Amino acid sequence: MTGPRILAGKTLAADLQAGVAAEVRRMVAAGLRPPGLAVVLAGDDPASKVYVGSKVKACSEAGLNSRSAILPADVSEDEILGVLDDLNRQEDMDGILVQLPLPRHLDERRVLERVLPEKDVDGFHTINVGRLWLDQPGFAPATPSGVIELLKRSDVPLAGRRAVVVGRSPIVGKPMAALLLREHATVTICHSRTADLPAVTREADVLVVAIGRAGMIGPEHVQEGAVVIDVGVSRITDRAEVERLFPGDEGRLRTFESRGSVLTGDVDFHRVAPKASAITPVPGGVGLLTVAMLLVNTLKAARLRQGVASP
Ligand code: NAP
Repeated sequence: MTGPRILAGKTLAADLQAGVAAEVRRMVAAGLRPPGLAVVLAGDDPASKVYVGSKVKACSEAGLNSRSAILPADVSEDEILGVLDDLNRQEDMDGILVQLPLPRHLDERRVLERVLPEKDVDGFHTINVGRLWLDQPGFAPATPSGVIELLKRSDVPLAGRRAVVVGRSPIVGKPMAALLLREHATVTICHSRTADLPAVTREADVLVVAIGRAGMIGPEHVQEGAVVIDVGVSRITDRAEVERLFPGDEGRLRTFESRGSVLTGDVDFHRVAPKASAITPVPGGVGLLTVAMLLVNTLKAARLRQGVASP
């Protein structure tokens, strides 16, 4: 028996990033300025710092300008709103992203609404959320946009197929459902109150999981031959859990022993893969596409703001 197709985001992410870099070179050669992305980070959450670092690095590799505003954890709402007002006014900054989660004392919605919709390359502003659901031009969040790119480039048919999304967050689940709907899939959204989750997810030709619970989705959730996309990323620090989720995976155990933890997705990959026709691994699947799609969105913002039609 042959195994499922492994949908690795790495090659696609590199292709997308190379495409952005080539387009930026063309813009500069034509006398336009390169796109600019501003990243706002409040507090010192180590994971957020890593994400911001990887976004800034990707910008510089693709020829984009970037600026980061690093604010203390106790920054006041007025101060962060002031920083956003300032970035909104900066002509050479086409995209602004606020790294989430914000410190708890800040009103996340109020902060996100302060970014000008035409600079909201994360697609979190209410205007862009509305545009997404109304099929109007705007910005869609990077992670679900990356999933759609991966499905399309892997020639997974969507029109008329049953798609089930597990998770209804504004960052992944809801925009994922909107984007699948835009591709004419028949979409069901599940969440923590869904009754008999396995019965619903077993109807999926394409199953997208974004929960944040290590290995929760087992073979009982998956129809034979389904395409399974795992957006979840969890860090496991319990050796028994690593052995349960990755039986016989010496590489993973070595990583665990050297780092004290390993990353895993929401899907119990080893038990689900034999049933799937295609599946994304974690790490190495969807995660790598988020930054690449952010560059794509920033390039789009720059072209729109400089009055250049998309190629
Ligand atoms: P979130 O805001 O915590 O949302 C999780 C969703 O899962 C909620 O809608 C929740 O339902 C649902 N859920 C929780 N337990 C469930 C259960 N037992 N059965 C069914 N549904 C359940 O998380 P998120 O921001 O969407 O992120 C989800 C995962 O994706 C996380 O692991 C995150 O790290 C990962 N992620 C990865 C990337 C990337 O790879 N680039 C980007 C973003 C997020 P309720 O709404 O009912 O609570």
